[in-house]
Amino acid sequence: MDVLRIATAGSVDDGKSTLIGRLLHDTKSITRDKLDAITVTSKRKGLDFTDLSLLTDGLIAEREQGITIDVANIYFSTPHRKYIIADTPGHIEYTRNMITGTSHSQVSIILIDARNGIIEQTKRHLFISSLLKVDTVFVCVNKMDLVNFDEAVFLSIQKEFMVLAKKIGYEGTLHFVPVVARDGDNVVNDSERMDWYRGPSLLKLLEAVQVNSKEKSLSARFPVQYVIRPRNEDHHDFRGYAGRLKTGSLHTGEKVMVLPSLKESVIKTLMVSEKNVDTALAGESIVVELEDDVDVSRGDMIVEVSSGCNCGSSFTATLAWMEDQPLTSGKSFLLQHNVNLVKARLTALENVLDINTMEEKKEVGELKLNDIGKVVIKIAKPIFVDLYRDNPANGSFVLIDEYTNNTVAVGIIESF
Ligand code: GDP
Repeated sequence: MDVLRIATAGSVDDGKSTLIGRLLHDTKSITRDKLDAITVTSKRKGLDFTDLSLLTDGLIAEREQGITIDVANIYFSTPHRKYIIADTPGHIEYTRNMITGTSHSQVSIILIDARNGIIEQTKRHLFISSLLKVDTVFVCVNKMDLVNFDEAVFLSIQKEFMVLAKKIGYEGTLHFVPVVARDGDNVVNDSERMDWYRGPSLLKLLEAVQVNSKEKSLSARFPVQYVIRPRNEDHHDFRGYAGRLKTGSLHTGEKVMVLPSLKESVIKTLMVSEKNVDTALAGESIVVELEDDVDVSRGDMIVEVSSGCNCGSSFTATLAWMEDQPLTSGKSFLLQHNVNLVKARLTALENVLDINTMEEKKEVGELKLNDIGKVVIKIAKPIFVDLYRDNPANGSFVLIDEYTNNTVAVGIIESF
């Protein structure tokens, strides 16, 4: 069965938890006792409706503080497919979680409170969806009940959003849905209160998304996580390379290349779940045995022999900065890419994006918390990266502070 991964984004109180709760409720994905429990809690809180946002609040303490603080995966399914929602928090300080959630998703849902229209956070969400090449964005204009179900409000937000998408250069598909998450209008079921909207409900639109297996159609990228050498009587010659096949596929008998040594060999055996197979696909955890005794260590990458995988020591990247302390040129970090951790230095800060105007400001000198900018990074030892637009899984990285061990930035590789 297909799986569609969705990232949700919205500012605090736009109704994200309620929308997700509504999707779960109306697709009958919640148990009777859970529903009873939130009905009781809603009554106790003096509400005259069942607060479905309570459903998604795995962490009670977090809800008591009134904020959602982590990326939580929420699962539901229809007869058609399974859905995984990465519930990413709306607070501006959590750009990092938003990026993490979005980078693993095929589509995103951006919520807008109909009363407030497009705000800075909306721009940031669309920019991140665009940066991470999310195929489809669903814009849910929520709380339509609070603007008298007025079509003009919806159309004006839609128009403004389309201008913004053009400015940002978002190349994917956009869908706009007027919803009342609290009551369920146009979430799973069609609304009877907005007959001017003739489009499908959010769920119907989600059901129609084609799940493309982009990762499987890309070139093979297999970062080696462990070298297996049993050293016992039966297997004294065996040397297997274990890890998760990031993208593409590998086949027994296929000619491959090991990076960085550029040594070539042929796949002798391939194992998935301890069984020999002819073909392994992206996403599978595999063990590869090669015909020749080439030197392969943890952190090396096995690729198709025809692969143009880059092994440079410098590249330009778009970076989202996530530390209170601003980032300036010349700073050193540890750069984590797959299993590799290498020393890295920021050699240039080319520009910073102004989220409100979508303009790139040059000669700014620093990236502040939540800023997004273009930088040049030099690494101490070559690693084997792709451009993000060619291979997202192998074209992104995080920067770690050497002293505090904090993850301070996420980046995507734009050019070599
Ligand atoms: P989140 O912070 O984005 O997860 O927002 P919540 O789902 O917690 O919702 C914030 C508040 O808005 C709650 O009081 C909800 O009951 C309310 N709310 C959510 N959706 C709607 C809606 O469609 N109409 C109205 N009137 N209130 C809503």
